[in-house]
Amino acid sequence: MSREKELLRKEMMPHMLCPGCGHGIVMGAMLRVLSRRFETLDDVVLVAGIGCSSRIVGYIDACTLHTTHGRALTFATGIKLARPDLTVIVVTGDGDGLSIGGNHFLHAARRNVGLTCVLFNNETYGMTGGQLAPTTVLNAYTSTSPDGNTEPAFDAANLAIAAGATFVARGQAFRTDALEDLFDQALDNDGFSFLDVMTDCTEYFVRKNSLGHGSDALFSQGSVDEEIQCDLAAGPTLRAADGWPTRDILPTGVLHRASRPSLSARLELAGQAAR
Ligand code: SF4
Repeated sequence: MSREKELLRKEMMPHMLCPGCGHGIVMGAMLRVLSRRFETLDDVVLVAGIGCSSRIVGYIDACTLHTTHGRALTFATGIKLARPDLTVIVVTGDGDGLSIGGNHFLHAARRNVGLTCVLFNNETYGMTGGQLAPTTVLNAYTSTSPDGNTEPAFDAANLAIAAGATFVARGQAFRTDALEDLFDQALDNDGFSFLDVMTDCTEYFVRKNSLGHGSDALFSQGSVDEEIQCDLAAGPTLRAADGWPTRDILPTGVLHRASRPSLSARLELAGQAAR
């Protein structure tokens, strides 16, 4: 049995992900990195909110916490402050992390909390029926935008950079080698690391936007990623009047690094000064 399979909770199988869902690919990449970095996951904490991506923490045999909607970063902040020695990883979706949890996202980045936040960005609320999310691109069809989305999407990576994250990267579910490398680098950072992962929802987003069925949908996932990135890159005023834009894709890879003390380090210094 491969090392990453040994890190799974077998009693939680079968998993609930739909066939072709990109989340399983992202989870596999994360597991491979964790299996290489850690002998056991006893000192690794995975914290999640609510949604299909958040559900995956239940499948990994680390210390795991499945919290309330949008609040994973707040629970994770408390864990990191109480136990700075632990590796804390937040798994969140774009609806969970940027909509209901948007405020927490900004402040975790501003405080430079020493954790890694992995955003499974599939442009939709998968678990609750494929509704519009803050990352849904213009013109895309969702359960709550049957005539096409009229709202511009967040660029999650730029948001994290503006808010103060000290490591920001963007990867894709379909380029797993690069994704593993980015996750590895995110874990190396002492402060707030943000990894925006372009993935997909075959059940809702792919289907509603006629991006294929079955194995077609699976193979179309790469182009879906590119379309999402094209749309974000184009911006609301530069978008073609109909259909998907064809402009340059958004960059992937490491987008930003900064060096400043983490929140735990600042608190430690403040405590020493007071004593
Ligand atoms: S509903 Fe969408 S995001 Fe959720 S498991 Fe199915 S394909 Fe994946």
